[in-house]
Amino acid sequence: MEQIGHWIDGKRVAGTSGRTADVMNPATGEVQAQVALASKAEMDAAVASAAKAQVAWGATNPQRRARVMMEMVRLINRDMDKLAEAISREHGKTFPDAKGDVQRGLEVIEFCIGAPHLLKGEFTDSAGPGIDMYSMRQPLGVVAGITPFNFPAMIPLWKLGPALAAGNAMILKPSERDPSCPMMIGELLTEAGLPDGVFQVINGDKEAVDAILDSETIQAVGFVGSTPIAQYIYSRATANGKRAQCFGGAKNHMIIMPDADLDQAADALVGAGFGAAGERCMAISVAVPVGEETADRLIERLVPRIEALKVGPYTAGTDVDFGPVVTKAAKENILRLVESGVAQGAELVVDGRDFNLQGYEDGFFVGPHLFDRVTPDMDIYKTEIFGPVLSTVRAASYEEAIGLAMDHEYGNGTAIFTRDGDAARDFANRINIGMVGINVPIPVPLAYHTFGGWKKSGFGDLNQHGPDAFRFYTRTKTITSRWPSGIKEGGEFNFKAMD
Ligand code: NAD
Repeated sequence: MEQIGHWIDGKRVAGTSGRTADVMNPATGEVQAQVALASKAEMDAAVASAAKAQVAWGATNPQRRARVMMEMVRLINRDMDKLAEAISREHGKTFPDAKGDVQRGLEVIEFCIGAPHLLKGEFTDSAGPGIDMYSMRQPLGVVAGITPFNFPAMIPLWKLGPALAAGNAMILKPSERDPSCPMMIGELLTEAGLPDGVFQVINGDKEAVDAILDSETIQAVGFVGSTPIAQYIYSRATANGKRAQCFGGAKNHMIIMPDADLDQAADALVGAGFGAAGERCMAISVAVPVGEETADRLIERLVPRIEALKVGPYTAGTDVDFGPVVTKAAKENILRLVESGVAQGAELVVDGRDFNLQGYEDGFFVGPHLFDRVTPDMDIYKTEIFGPVLSTVRAASYEEAIGLAMDHEYGNGTAIFTRDGDAARDFANRINIGMVGINVPIPVPLAYHTFGGWKKSGFGDLNQHGPDAFRFYTRTKTITSRWPSGIKEGGEFNFKAMD
């Protein structure tokens, strides 16, 4: 059985805690590897080594650090298929979708090549007689990333790109469900020229996370995962004086106005609701058609599309729309919520409860489900299901529809489908949600904008990637300098390269 340890000081090392977790193949239900779960002592040692390595890395000029990112872009492109295969094998998502996971992370690494520009400070010449004032953005030191199972390439890359380009060392604690891709990223960073110790992958569970939160060396924690854990990490990290940004769960609504192109809306809903088996924080899980007629016409279009979805293992390549969910427990939780929806009076229009895939009976496959006439008091509306289940809530008016999205505790993403610019504009202005799509179902911002939810989907002040990431991973120092007199030396006429 494959044993996955940690990536420390530029090499794979075995865990020493004696504790491990099973890494499953969700398509077959088999254990395919065991991952080490770090003890507090292992974490503390890795942090101490990262702190030593950070000193020289932080003093390396930003252009040289950016060159490591440049080389990473080449290496990730070179190994795209290998990385995607590792993701599909442990996560279960389809191979094309796994490549998308790598691609969206890669785009942030591309953005980080421009780090020297973002790290520039400000300068005021002659703020007083002989006085100049300037600010510099300096790295924080050692920072940590704690990441979820559903994007094992993208989210680690979103964190490590800006953190390392800004001169920090990073401890990554990825999800214990799919640790292979983060370990491969560690190897690629070393191949790209990152000095040993500047990036460490420490696998583990709560013990490793708590060691990060209580570490006196770690200065900042970037977390992505479920809301209860995001809230826990935010409180404990900030109570210990750390900077924290913690992104949580979601319940993303898509509003369909009576004037929308309903075929386009139905296609969008099927992709955004069922892609990656609904295991995306930006998945649309609630459709809100406005008006009974819109709702009837939408359901009519959704049913055949959902019934035609192909569910299967990633090894089927492009012949499959979505794969299994990540664990047996996740599957049971989804099916329990579906039962609660039926018991609480929602109409199960597409029933995937009996879904069974021949030859993969022990895999964690869940068939697609569509609910109609869901109401806000039901558990399937209040809870993040994180599975292939789309709920329809019928709204009588635009005001009722926007009110539903605004009153929900989550505020990650949302979308409106309409042909009316006035409605779209009003929606974008008033909605209390971080990322908004207008006729775009999954409005994930590109690398040079920032990504972050509102309400219970995000805790902390700054978003992920884009310019915010460089603010998060640096602190500002402002210098006031006065040179009342001095010996003016002769000029230097050679055009010198930076050392
Ligand atoms: P999770 O909260 O179970 O785990 C996330 C990380 O926290 C993992 O590294 C895990 O090891 C660690 N962890 C789990 N339990 C812990 C505990 N009790 N104490 C300390 N650490 C703990 O989340 P997940 O199931 O891996 O990911 C799915 C969730 O992530 C969904 O809720 C999804 O919406 C959310 N998500 C959010 C975003 C976003 O940007 N808002 C992006 C992707 C995923």
